[in-house]
Amino acid sequence: MKEIYADNNATTRVDEAVFEEMRPYFCELYGNPSSMHFFGGQVQRKINEARNRTAALLGAHPEEIIFNACGTEGNNTAIRSALEAFPERRHIITTRVEHPAVLTPCRNLAKKGYRVTELSVDGEGRLSLDELRAAVDEDTAIVSIMYANNETGVVFPIEEIGAIVKEKGALFHTDAVQAVGKIPLNMAESTVDMLSLSGHKLHASKGVGALYVRKGVPFRPFMVGGHQERSRRAGTENTAGIIALGKACELAGQYLEDENSRVRAMRDRLEAEILRLIPNVRVNGGAAQRLPNTCSVAFEYVEGEAILLLMSEKGICASSGSACTSGSLEPSHVLRAMGVPFTCAHGSIRFSLSRYTTDQDIDTIIREIVPIIQHLRELSPFGREFLAKG
Ligand code: PLP
Repeated sequence: MKEIYADNNATTRVDEAVFEEMRPYFCELYGNPSSMHFFGGQVQRKINEARNRTAALLGAHPEEIIFNACGTEGNNTAIRSALEAFPERRHIITTRVEHPAVLTPCRNLAKKGYRVTELSVDGEGRLSLDELRAAVDEDTAIVSIMYANNETGVVFPIEEIGAIVKEKGALFHTDAVQAVGKIPLNMAESTVDMLSLSGHKLHASKGVGALYVRKGVPFRPFMVGGHQERSRRAGTENTAGIIALGKACELAGQYLEDENSRVRAMRDRLEAEILRLIPNVRVNGGAAQRLPNTCSVAFEYVEGEAILLLMSEKGICASSGSACTSGSLEPSHVLRAMGVPFTCAHGSIRFSLSRYTTDQDIDTIIREIVPIIQHLRELSPFGREFLAKG
């Protein structure tokens, strides 16, 4: 069975060109980039190239890039760094729809006595800038707001947010793990102070990421020890991963146009056909500005997990809007924050496409999803009631 992979916001396939680029750095060019000899030096040069490539995709300076292990590390580091740099400021602002890689550290800090404001979103997943304006004050050390939501693809107005944050002298961090490679970014003309990205979301390998830190922004390292990354992130570099990330960033720049035309068109067609062929369906965040590859669809009166299982039997990989915690299926915190009704949140499925998605994949998803939803609605008491109403 050929798999149809529509779960690219979870992780992506490593691009073959990326794999070829990283391959020699395991068994042949395995030197430590910090070594004085030529063998390490050639690896160091390749890391420098990766830094230039990563910076180019962000419109940043190479020295503003700190390589690390993942998006989670970048988020934790940015928040912690800001609090250490401004010890007199005890307030953090974030949103209710962040990834746990931001929400969990913030909530842990709240338990330690920091004041944490979690901004709300409207029914389409959009922020209120007035709520942000009212929340930010001279006590705010850092505002951490994601660039784009991993579940709905909703994109926040990052530059407008940054302008408000700057008025009170706070630092502005954005979790851009889902945005990098999907929409154009330009740190040279941005209000963002720090930005996290993750390799495995943009066709590089897992276990590598980067934190952008604007020149002049005070930074306190999370990992201390060796002098790697100019003492900003100690630990022997994941050389192959970093080289992969650099190549992936170079390719992402080349594919940006494709992402915003062909991939977007496939996403729009998938959405339009689902809405046309299946009753009682809504697109979560459908009225908001969104990433071109993401679509979160709520099928009323069905369980997301059941949809996923039946799709999986047909070779289709997507994800649901629920998190299985302690045996009970809780609708995701993102959909709950948006006030998506219970009957919809439970049946929410996220399809996330990539440059590897084809029109045939979309045809197959459309063909298979219609009978799956019909079948599941026939099985559930609510669904039967709904079908009986016609
Ligand atoms: N932030 C967002 C928005 C994400 O979607 C993810 C991963 O799903 C992360 C952070 C965590 O990234 P990583 O898996 O690289 O730690």
